[in-house]
Amino acid sequence: MIASVLSFLDRRHYFLGAELHRVLQRTVASIGKYVFPYKWRLLFSVLLGMASATFNGLMLIGFQLIFSLVLKGQTRTMGEPVRLPLIGKLNLADMLGFEQDAPVGLVGVIIACSFIPILIFIRGFLSYLSIYMQAVIASKVVYKIRNDTFRSVMRQSPAFFSNARTGELMQTVVMQTTAVHQNAMLLIQTLAQRPLTIISILTVLFAQDWVFTSVALLIFPACVWPIMRIGKSARAVGQNEVSGSSDLMVVLQESFAGSRLVKSYAREEHQCELFEVTNANVVRNTLGWTRLLELVGPIVESVASIGIGAGLVYAWYRGLEAENFFLLVMALTQIYPPVKELSRVQMLMQRAGLAAELVFQLLEKVPDILDAPDAVDSGRARGAVEFRDVTFSYLESDGIKKEVPAVNSINLKLDPGKFYAFVGPSGAGKSTLYSLILRFYDPDKGSILLDGCDIRKLTQTSLRGNIGVVNQDTFLFHTTILENIRYGRLDASREEIIEAAKKAHAHEFIEQIGGGYDAVVGEGGCKLSGGQKQRLSIARAILRNAPILLLDEATSALDTESEKIIQDAIQVLSEGKTVVAIAHRLSTILEADQIVVMDHGYILDCGSHSELLVRNPMYQKLYHLQFSADEKIPEIA
Ligand code: ATP
Repeated sequence: MIASVLSFLDRRHYFLGAELHRVLQRTVASIGKYVFPYKWRLLFSVLLGMASATFNGLMLIGFQLIFSLVLKGQTRTMGEPVRLPLIGKLNLADMLGFEQDAPVGLVGVIIACSFIPILIFIRGFLSYLSIYMQAVIASKVVYKIRNDTFRSVMRQSPAFFSNARTGELMQTVVMQTTAVHQNAMLLIQTLAQRPLTIISILTVLFAQDWVFTSVALLIFPACVWPIMRIGKSARAVGQNEVSGSSDLMVVLQESFAGSRLVKSYAREEHQCELFEVTNANVVRNTLGWTRLLELVGPIVESVASIGIGAGLVYAWYRGLEAENFFLLVMALTQIYPPVKELSRVQMLMQRAGLAAELVFQLLEKVPDILDAPDAVDSGRARGAVEFRDVTFSYLESDGIKKEVPAVNSINLKLDPGKFYAFVGPSGAGKSTLYSLILRFYDPDKGSILLDGCDIRKLTQTSLRGNIGVVNQDTFLFHTTILENIRYGRLDASREEIIEAAKKAHAHEFIEQIGGGYDAVVGEGGCKLSGGQKQRLSIARAILRNAPILLLDEATSALDTESEKIIQDAIQVLSEGKTVVAIAHRLSTILEADQIVVMDHGYILDCGSHSELLVRNPMYQKLYHLQFSADEKIPEIA
């Protein structure tokens, strides 16, 4: 219905402009899918709104009858009926069963006047029911849209998150969905009710005195031009407002997430200044928007008041009777609010369109990495991983692939249950292989196989379900230690979690913390040391018990004692698993079954520590850099 109203209003794009027209058509089509399940309820609520709008005309008729009775009742008999539009002649005294040819007394007047609140209540109640029903539908729709938008963001690949601004994403998922909701609601109400309100009042007005009404309304078209001009400026201001509030969210999110960096560099004032600048921008834009929106009302009112003035001059000239005069003035004042609201429709469309465009762009974004339509569940894998001639380049910020691949012509077989360590200088491509095993990216050439099956033929959930990860920078949620470990397997019992923590050598320190397993670790685990966080991360991976384990620099930046504890924990964790360890500290991987030496995206060599030490110059270099001549070279068991 809204789509047809829009296209009717704007067949030649005079009203909205080609760009907004396109955006709104897309918006209506996108929102339509969400509203469709509630179509009957929506229709009913719109009909209620229309009934309330039409009731305005009936109410005026009722008022006229009451005015007539009250104003003439004391002096004249009630034999004189009131001529009503479309209905003919009516007499309220007759309808109420008052005695003919007798003046209306106080009781009669009170009875007649008691209809005023009744009429107003009926109109208000119909409108309330309609608005409430629409609000219920809109809340359900926005609930679903917000869930789907969040789900869509969660489905995106790491490449998407590398380029996105977290604060902006938060702003779109939370604030813009609300803006779609509020503005779309207002639009439905305005488009469904206001035209009918105006039509019903105009019908009464024209039937009552068409000359007066024509004179009063003659000037109305003069409002159209300034409203159009304002609408055009509103789009630019609206766009600035949206981008300004996204910037504000970005500053907020980064200042809070990076609070330790801010503090350690004593940059509180710098962040505050940054916030003030973006905040001032938001305030300026909001003010600009409000100024334009609120300008529409006075323009319409001022222009309309000229017409009313002219109409009154005419009324005086014609010597209108008091009750008719009352009715005309009342009807004209009743027509103001809906006309004012209708004149803001274009701006509401701008706002709803802008918000919806952002939301639906995110909601409908197809992830870079998708499950194949015939993807299968891998089940529990044995843990054999094979790289077959794999080459991969990252994208530049302009979306074009980098010329130099991050990994090049990689051929490598990882047998189940063995420990593989990847070494090489910074930028050699170690972490990229790790990301490729997780299918964060697809190779440009070649393939990666899990137990002989191309991972692109597996569902992402089942592939990643076979992989446990222990990262250098452990991420912990702001919840209890118990829940943080449980993230490895959501249905794990408390006993299983404690068992995993014991294996990860975490149980002892957890017991010493006030609150034990139920202690809250703080934002990002800020209440724990680096080594403690890593042990929780290992406990999480132990609980997950996946056949493949990816370890990324798990023991860097730790003192010798902590490193020993973590090494023991990793040993427990690694038992029977295919381990892919990325480590700069060779001391942690000397006993690996195979050490893979990488440089500039290529695999240079692969062998045991003693083999590589004899034959590979890059490995020798790395080894001697770390174990300088005066340092004791660790012994291999
Ligand atoms: P380090 O030991 O320092 O972590 P690495 O051996 O793990 O290095 P990778 O992180 O795999 O190396 O990086 C390989 C190359 O790919 C580098 O040149 C790096 O700049 C580039 N690179 C890594 N991640 C991205 C990314 N998200 N977008 C673009 N280029 C990237």
